[in-house]
Amino acid sequence: MTHQSPHVVIVGGGFGGLAAAKALRKTPAKVTLIDRTNHHLFQPLLYQVATSVLTGGQIATPIRNILRNQKNATVLMGEVTGVDKDQKCVIVSDADRQNVQIAYDHLILATGASHSYFGHNEFAEYAPGLKSLADAEAARNKILQAFELAEAEEDPSRHRDLLTFILVGAGPTGVEMAGALAIFVRNTLKSDFRRIDPASARIVLADMAPRVLGSFSETLSKAAKQRLEKLGVEVWLGHSVDLIDAEGVVIAGERIASKTVIWTAGVAPSPAGKWLNAETDRAGRVRIEKDLTVPGHPEIFVVGDTASLDQNGKPLPGVAQVAMQQGRYAGKLIHSRIVGNPPPGPFSYFDKGTMAVVGKGFAVLQSWKVQVSGFGAWLAWAAVHLQFLATSSLRLSVFLQWIWTYVSGQRGDRLIVSHHDSAPVSTPVKEAVRGAA
Ligand SMILES: Cc1cc2nc3c(=O)[nH]c(=O)nc-3n(C[C@H](O)[C@H](O)[C@H](O)COP(=O)(O)OP(=O)(O)OC[C@H]3O[C@@H](n4cnc5c(N)ncnc54)[C@H](O)[C@@H]3O)c2cc1C
Repeated sequence: MTHQSPHVVIVGGGFGGLAAAKALRKTPAKVTLIDRTNHHLFQPLLYQVATSVLTGGQIATPIRNILRNQKNATVLMGEVTGVDKDQKCVIVSDADRQNVQIAYDHLILATGASHSYFGHNEFAEYAPGLKSLADAEAARNKILQAFELAEAEEDPSRHRDLLTFILVGAGPTGVEMAGALAIFVRNTLKSDFRRIDPASARIVLADMAPRVLGSFSETLSKAAKQRLEKLGVEVWLGHSVDLIDAEGVVIAGERIASKTVIWTAGVAPSPAGKWLNAETDRAGRVRIEKDLTVPGHPEIFVVGDTASLDQNGKPLPGVAQVAMQQGRYAGKLIHSRIVGNPPPGPFSYFDKGTMAVVGKGFAVLQSWKVQVSGFGAWLAWAAVHLQFLATSSLRLSVFLQWIWTYVSGQRGDRLIVSHHDSAPVSTPVKEAVRGAA
């Protein structure tokens, strides 16, 4: 490759960015993928890390490992903080260097979304969300620690608060997490404690919407709610959360005491719209053209959760399939421009359907006119999720873990790992070391 090869910069190594990079594998271009983390994360299984089914390493892979055989691709770990559209460069910082400019000929922004607390950012301190591997591991630590604290607590009146788990948001993440948590406390933990009965734990799933899984049909939504209730989950619908603090939550004027609240409600797009100073929708997602470019800037593409595009009069949903199909499309369009082929027609999303799992061996599946719930849907859910994991080794490892968990009830990772758990060196020891030097 000569140094005059066009430079394609992709920001984000999630579903959209990675699909774009792969679509450019045969393009005579230099491709640079920048991500703030070193790994591609399979977010749909984050709840399984939070509920101890899987380990972090089973749902994430280093991006440079995925692209190791793609010789035209370079992976950089850094935080993009802005885009200079006139100079055609992105601004990147890392722990070592600040505000480095990286020039591009074509730019793909695939920076995803983070949590939205609907204007109540003060909730974040008490109700962490579930978006990154660190979030999932923090949630797992918190859940496991609640049981440890309850076992150590002699006063049984305090067990109730410690063993009440509240999930705010009854979309797919909240429902999946509530189901997995219910199985965890009623099955996996049942023989592990002496002073407390883990099965007595209270799991509350709350949402202001009138039903769970609002994006599914009413029939499937009802089936999911019935299943959750059968698993012992209390489903509170139709009321917003008024307050979240260190003591728990207040919903519809009623306080529920809890030490573990997890936010699985709204998402907010990345600040790509601000970097570009481009038109956004009400949620802040960048409004893009039918070829996924930013109006007036055919060299800049925005894909996935941080983009806003209508199809058949409705905005496309923030799901992995949209991000992957858009990433692939943007890669192909850039390829055709570089090699001089005619461009593909406008982007069109092909909806393969949507699923959510509710506890062991039960899922709901909606695809076109097909609506099913139960064990068959769960098998389809498992097959699809395995298929979309980033590498064969992850597929094998997750498959085996699921079989083991299904058969034995045991889970993959129940360790409470505090990153600051080694005792600090006390002053006298430090002094002694200094004196000996
Ligand atoms: C808990 C959870 C469960 C989900 N379950 C499902 C499901 O079952 N099915 C489904 O279809 N979808 C699901 N989704 C949604 C799906 O994961 C997203 O729609 C999809 O990840 C969007 O892809 P993306 O490429 O736009 O963003 P992402 O996959 O989020 O990737 C964005 C990437 O950009 C990087 N990044 C962000 N900002 C910067 C920056 N400033 N500088 C450098 N790098 C940056 C991030 O580190 C990340 O790697 C779920 C999401 C969550 C959080």
